[in-house]
Amino acid sequence: MKVTEHINKAKGNTQFSFEILPPLKGQHIQSIFDNIDPLMEFNPPFIDVTYHREEYTFKDAGNGLLKKHIVKKRPGTVGICAAIQNKYGVDAIPHILCGGFTKEDTENFLIDLDFLGIENVMALRGDAVKTETYFKPEKEGHAYANDLVCQISELNSGVYLDEELQNCSETNFCIGVGAYPEKHMEAPSLDSDIHFLKKKIKSGAEYIVTQMFFDNEKYFEFVKKCRSEGITVPIIPGLKPIATGKQLNLIPHRFHVDLPEDLIIDIVKCKDNTAVRQVGVEWCVQQSKELKAAGIPVLHYYSMGKSTNIKAIADQIF
Ligand SMILES: Cc1cc2nc3c(=O)[nH]c(=O)nc-3n(C[C@H](O)[C@H](O)[C@H](O)COP(=O)(O)OP(=O)(O)OC[C@H]3O[C@@H](n4cnc5c(N)ncnc54)[C@H](O)[C@@H]3O)c2cc1C
Repeated sequence: MKVTEHINKAKGNTQFSFEILPPLKGQHIQSIFDNIDPLMEFNPPFIDVTYHREEYTFKDAGNGLLKKHIVKKRPGTVGICAAIQNKYGVDAIPHILCGGFTKEDTENFLIDLDFLGIENVMALRGDAVKTETYFKPEKEGHAYANDLVCQISELNSGVYLDEELQNCSETNFCIGVGAYPEKHMEAPSLDSDIHFLKKKIKSGAEYIVTQMFFDNEKYFEFVKKCRSEGITVPIIPGLKPIATGKQLNLIPHRFHVDLPEDLIIDIVKCKDNTAVRQVGVEWCVQQSKELKAAGIPVLHYYSMGKSTNIKAIADQIF
C-alpha cells in the first residue's frame, strides 16, 4: 500500500514508522531482523531502508603509488526491502539516489522494485562522495532529486528511456522526497530550498520526510512556510534520539542542524553514554508527545540500525 493510503486509512491517528540502514558488507541480514523484531508491536505501516552509494579508498599499490578502489560498504537495500515485505508483510520503502546512478541504472532499479511489488520509493539526490566537496552527478545521471522524481513519474505514465518501446507497463510508485526544516546545507536560504521542494511536489512527489530536528518549533515553522507556499502534501517529521556524547558535535556537523541549549546542558552533565541515552530518549519522547498532540499523521524515527532506544520511545507514545 502507498504511504498516502496508509495515512488516509489511519483517519487522523498518529502512526509509527522508522528507517534502517543495511548492515556493513559481510554482516548477516539477521542483525536487521533482530532490530526490527522488537518494533513490530507498534504496527509500523512502512519501514524505510537507506541507500549507500559507493566510496573511494586509496590503497598502496606496492610501487610507491596509491591505487583507487571503489567500495560499497552497505549494499543490499533492495534485498532488505524484499525480505521485509516477505517476512513482516509491511511496506518497505527503498531510498534511491541520483548519486552513482545513470538514468539507465535508475530505470533498471525501478523495474526491479516494481517486479518485487514495492509501491513506495524515497527519491533523493545523495551527498557528495566523501573525498569530494561538491555533489557530482554521473555523466548520464541526475543533478537534483527533482530530476529523479520526474523520471519516476514518467515511468508511472509508462514512459521508458527507450523511445522505441511501445505499450509499456506503467509503474505505480508513490514518491517521497526529503526536506530540511533548518535548510539544506547547500541552499542559500530556506526560501530557496522550499522553492525547489515545491518543484519536487509539482513533479509528482506525494509526501515529504524531514531531516531530523530537535526543536519542534523549527518543524512547525517549516510546515507553516511550506503551506503558505502552496505545498499541501503530508510532511512527516524525522526524529532521532541522541545516543552518545560524541553526537553532540557529530550531528550538527553531519546533518547541519542545531541542538537546543537545554538538551546540550543535560547531555554535558551525563557521566556516561548510558545516561546520555536516557536523556536522548526523554527528549525525543517530549518531542513525540507534542507532535502527536498536534495531529501529525506519522512520526518517523531514524534508528541508525539500533532499536533499543526507539522501542523505549515507542513504548511511551504508541
Ligand atoms: C528523509 C531523508 C532520507 C535520506 N536518506 C538518504 C539515503 O538513504 N542515502 C543517502 O545517501 N542520503 C540520504 N539522505 C541525505 C540526502 O541525500 C542529502 O541531504 C542530499 O545532500 C540532498 O538530497 P535531496 O534529495 O534533499 O536533494 P535536492 O532536493 O536535489 O536538493 C539538494 C540541494 O540543491 C538545491 N536545489 C534543488 N534543485 C535545484 C536546482 N534546480 N537548482 C539549484 N539548486 C537546487 C536544494 O535547495 C538543496 O540545497 C536523506 C535525507 C533525508 C531528508
